[in-house]
Amino acid sequence: MKTYHIALIKGDGIGPEVITQAQKVLDKAGQIYGFEVVYDEFLMGGCAYDTHKTPLPEATIRGCLQADATLFGAIGGAKWDHLPRELRPESGLLALRKALEVFANIRPAIVFDALKLASTLKPEVVCGVDLVVIRELVGGIYFGEPRGKEADCAYNTMRYTPKEIERIAKVGFEFATKRRKKLCSIDKANVLEVSELWREVVTQISKQYPDVELSHQYVDNASMQLIKDPKQFDVILTSNLFGDILSDEASMLTGSIGLLPSGSIGERAALYEPIHGSAPDIAGQGIANPIAAILSAAMMLQHTLHNTQAAQAIWQAVSRTLQKGYRTKDISAFDAKEICNTHQMGDLIAKHLEQV
Ligand code: NAD
Repeated sequence: MKTYHIALIKGDGIGPEVITQAQKVLDKAGQIYGFEVVYDEFLMGGCAYDTHKTPLPEATIRGCLQADATLFGAIGGAKWDHLPRELRPESGLLALRKALEVFANIRPAIVFDALKLASTLKPEVVCGVDLVVIRELVGGIYFGEPRGKEADCAYNTMRYTPKEIERIAKVGFEFATKRRKKLCSIDKANVLEVSELWREVVTQISKQYPDVELSHQYVDNASMQLIKDPKQFDVILTSNLFGDILSDEASMLTGSIGLLPSGSIGERAALYEPIHGSAPDIAGQGIANPIAAILSAAMMLQHTLHNTQAAQAIWQAVSRTLQKGYRTKDISAFDAKEICNTHQMGDLIAKHLEQV
């Protein structure tokens, strides 16, 4: 039997609650599809600070690098907001992504039929949306030097090398190849030199993928198009800053932050996590939606552990559970037949997995 070694970082707030449900569903998938998951738990975020006085202990980095993949919940909370920036939970997460060199952030935005009314946009606009944003995660303006704040100004640098653009572009085209074969690269090449380079390199790489239809959009237009006609997109490829903004915008097409998974992959490691934060306002109440965490586990199965069958079955189990009208509180306003807590939603998805 195949064994997967997974580093587990539950984190703060609702992190442990939703990750426990993801483990439940992964284990059930293992029973059905013939694999075993061995978890090694590590600390990161506020809980790591409380124990080790650092948000990212060395052991966590080592553990994530040794594992087949990492599954992470969420970090942060008011309790740690008074700390100097470098000791805050959020700094731990940024440092972990950098240490693991997970340069490609993958965020699918899929509208479940059962939840087409959950979006603030009209159902006919969002129904059938199935896109993925591939965002460069460890370069660009968030990391470029020089950066600084002086008495009379502050500055950051948006910097990319051709190599950095090449590797993220390849991830984008590989995804497009396995999907509907359309890739839209988003930049600001009419104003920024760094975007000019981005466009040149992406166009060059596209020659290796003749089956994929490449288009380019400026980021201001793209943010409008995402709201106007999101179904035109299949794979969106973009840089760190633009991707940060556009992926949040895309996620809202689906209705609730509690539904959306993500993965960050590199050459040495992979990190999967729900896009939401630690939700301190609902932590400990047992009402968090575990679907984003459960789908993050499905993405891990698909993109890193290459178990497509089990991954697709989890997506189907989630879809069926929603189709039957089971809802957590955050999505309870949309065609709900029964409201469930976090634990019950995990149980239901595991049960439906048996029936896929
Ligand atoms: P948040 O995502 O934690 O919460 C925003 C809103 O969405 C809240 O009302 C919350 O209750 C709700 N929500 C989030 N996840 C949910 C779920 N699974 N089910 C139901 N409702 C859900 O964002 P925030 O409130 O801005 O941040 C709270 C803390 O989380 C902060 O400390 C922030 O820095 C941190 N944060 C961490 C991450 C991460 O770990 N990747 C990401 C974003 C924010």
